[in-house]
Amino acid sequence: MKINLGLLKKNYEKLKLLSGSRQILFMVKANAYGHGMVPIVRYAVSELGIKEFGCATVGEALTLRKELCDLKFDIYVFSDLELDAENGMMNYIEHGIIPVISCQEVLHEFLQESRYQFLPVCLKFNTGMNRLGFKTSEVGDVINELKKFKKNTIYHLMSHFSCSSESVNKNLKSQKQYAQFQEIKKVFIKEGFTLERTSMANSGAIEQGFALEETHIRPGLILYGPSSLIPSLRKKRGWQGETISSLETHIIQIQKIKKGDPVGYGATPCPEEGFIAYIALGYGDGLTNFYRGIKISHKGFTGTVVGRISMDMTAVLFPLEAEKVLVLGESILLWNHDSDSVLSISDHISSIPYEIFCGLSERIPRVYSIS
Ligand SMILES: *Cc1c(COP(=O)(O)O)cnc(C)c1O
Repeated sequence: MKINLGLLKKNYEKLKLLSGSRQILFMVKANAYGHGMVPIVRYAVSELGIKEFGCATVGEALTLRKELCDLKFDIYVFSDLELDAENGMMNYIEHGIIPVISCQEVLHEFLQESRYQFLPVCLKFNTGMNRLGFKTSEVGDVINELKKFKKNTIYHLMSHFSCSSESVNKNLKSQKQYAQFQEIKKVFIKEGFTLERTSMANSGAIEQGFALEETHIRPGLILYGPSSLIPSLRKKRGWQGETISSLETHIIQIQKIKKGDPVGYGATPCPEEGFIAYIALGYGDGLTNFYRGIKISHKGFTGTVVGRISMDMTAVLFPLEAEKVLVLGESILLWNHDSDSVLSISDHISSIPYEIFCGLSERIPRVYSIS
């Protein structure tokens, strides 16, 4: 996989046009959506001036601290805080990592331990996704608990949308969630709290210009390029990012084949006559059997993935006329920097670009350039 960091810069500049003066908390969980967390964060801090990043696990956060100890930036851990593990909160104290607290048990533990008193209080509320987060009905309890420990400043108050890839005008779920978040903010303010930072918008909301009235936004996918909106909404909305990666492999075998001839394991009958180009990617690289049937463009021709996908190779059927452009050893791209390219794959297999990126295995080398 080739990753052009210059395109991350272009996407970031486009994002700033959309989001104005909002601060950016860049989500880099799951190895920066498969793009390699360390090089992505290094570039984002040193070349783009982004200062805040979101990880899912404390392990990811520690990796960033260790590998990028020469750079200054904030890290939030959103999901697996591992507070009960041996080192518990010490990881957060020693490495300046911010835990996003989303349940009362953890909040209690956090406030009770005097060594944690200098860590910022970052809270996430559940406004209807029913995943992580304090329930709206718990606001009073959370406030009482904070007051008991003389805390009156919230470093960052957040919530998360469940349906922002759908129209915020047609599916009112996002509006309801955002309204609830505003109510929660109001209660805190009425009770005398200072809310230093607030955020809710992820890619889908940002693309629709929604929930931007907070200090921060939390984009992930759109900075890597593709839109996070459902297909019917994409064209209408303005996001025109370029995919920062392109996935390249090689043609390792070319065969003429007749309709009905067996292909690969299980001897699947070939649906048409043509040329099969075997490409050097298989399920060992993350190209699972969900990819059967996807289209691959190559030099003006369209190939179709046929038969079962092997661990290390995949059969792509091209029409007979493609003979002249199929060259043994030549490279072939599964997707290029045009975001429609990866989106057409994810649409074809009823998946999402998030899953396509995160599914790529370590077997695929990530090669970085800046242009
Ligand atoms: C992953 C994540 C985001 C970013 O979502 P995108 O759809 O990739 O923009 C924002 N907030 C939280 C809490 C997340 O887990």
